[in-house]
Amino acid sequence: MKSTSENLNPFAIAQSQLDEAADVLGLDENMHMFLRQPMREFHFTIPVRMDDGRVRTFNGYRVQYNDARGPAKGGIRFHPDETIDTVRALAAWMTWKTAVADIPLGGGKGGIICNPRELSPGELERLSRGYIRNISRYVGLRQDVPAPDVNTNPQIMGWMLDEYEVLNGAHEPGVITGKPIELGGSAGRGAATSLGGIFAIREAAKTVGLETQGASCAIQGYGNVGSGTHKFAIEILGMKVVALSDEFGGIYNEEGFSVKEVVSHLKQNGRLQGLAGSTEISNPDLLELDVDVLIPAAIENQLTGQNADRIKAKIIAELANGPTTPDADDVFNEKGIFVIPDFLCNAGGVIVSYFEMVQNTSNFYWEEDEVNERLDKKMTTAFKAVIEMAENEEVPNRVAAYLVAIDRVAQAARLRGWV
Ligand code: NAD
Repeated sequence: MKSTSENLNPFAIAQSQLDEAADVLGLDENMHMFLRQPMREFHFTIPVRMDDGRVRTFNGYRVQYNDARGPAKGGIRFHPDETIDTVRALAAWMTWKTAVADIPLGGGKGGIICNPRELSPGELERLSRGYIRNISRYVGLRQDVPAPDVNTNPQIMGWMLDEYEVLNGAHEPGVITGKPIELGGSAGRGAATSLGGIFAIREAAKTVGLETQGASCAIQGYGNVGSGTHKFAIEILGMKVVALSDEFGGIYNEEGFSVKEVVSHLKQNGRLQGLAGSTEISNPDLLELDVDVLIPAAIENQLTGQNADRIKAKIIAELANGPTTPDADDVFNEKGIFVIPDFLCNAGGVIVSYFEMVQNTSNFYWEEDEVNERLDKKMTTAFKAVIEMAENEEVPNRVAAYLVAIDRVAQAARLRGWV
């Protein structure tokens, strides 16, 4: 078992991952110091008139971590526990994600400290519009393009787009992605993160010699990403999804769960536990199951120095952002578990967001099949670049993904004459 005093500050983790890769890469010290920090960040207050007439002040952030390769790109999270360090870490990971996916964008992220479940639809709309009023001068198709993330959705993107267009007096749908289809959203965007993750798992299975047909799989988190991954794991890879969880706990059935039974149970009960024919398990138990593929698709810091020794999966596909701590990484490397690192595994969302921007700019829209085909090509190319780097440099996949990404960002910064 590893130390009990792991630093779980996400930005400290993001920086330590960068440090390790910079060391392997022999990155120039000046470039390393430049890449260790966000280029720009905005901290602001958002006064919102509540339904009862009071004005409540919320705190918002937008971090533009690095835009050497193109406009910053990243979601906006609404969360009561949001911190500037979480936003910084996620903005850093977006920088490496757009670089490893080789799309011409940088990395950014935003957030508001709030609990959207306590807000009425009107309050949520005024808060969303207030966020855009604060940053409208600093975002745009050529500067920084937000998107949905935890607790934000296409409707919120619709309000934000409208606020931006009202302030700017013109239609500019490409300023924000993850929009409703009716406002210029892309076909396939909703499922893109899950589908991209499935393409990465397919490639990983080929690499480790795992037959996916009938292979067992456990998924932590049953939101947008986890539920989509369940569907595609069965439809595309023929896997048996034996365990699922949400924030209330997990369920297990060695015969596997069909999407239909789970979705209809969820609709009626609002939580997974209690599904007929399933055994209840805890979230920590789910992670330690003896399955071929483990898919963390919920929140950060789930695989740590405390439980890494007991993880039995052959492949860990990190659909969530930051599910694995550096201590756990060390254990997985020793054990030879094949990790598909988060900013590669969950890049499908930002890849299709980029396709959305392209479609908005040309005002010409693609069929879903075309979107998915292009997504497969991008994910597979990114996966192969990372694996090739891991083999050539004899480093773990996460370090290899950093090497690919940092090298691309550093080259762009160097060519601009920044460092
Ligand atoms: P979501 O809010 O739709 O779903 C989150 C799920 O996780 C829910 O089922 C929730 O019950 C569960 N959960 C919350 N806390 C938990 C806990 N402590 N233990 C177990 N389960 C818990 O979010 P999402 O969009 O599906 O995102 C999931 C993860 O994927 C996040 O890390 C997010 O950053 C990452 N991600 C999402 C996208 C995207 O396109 N949505 C893209 C890239 C990465």
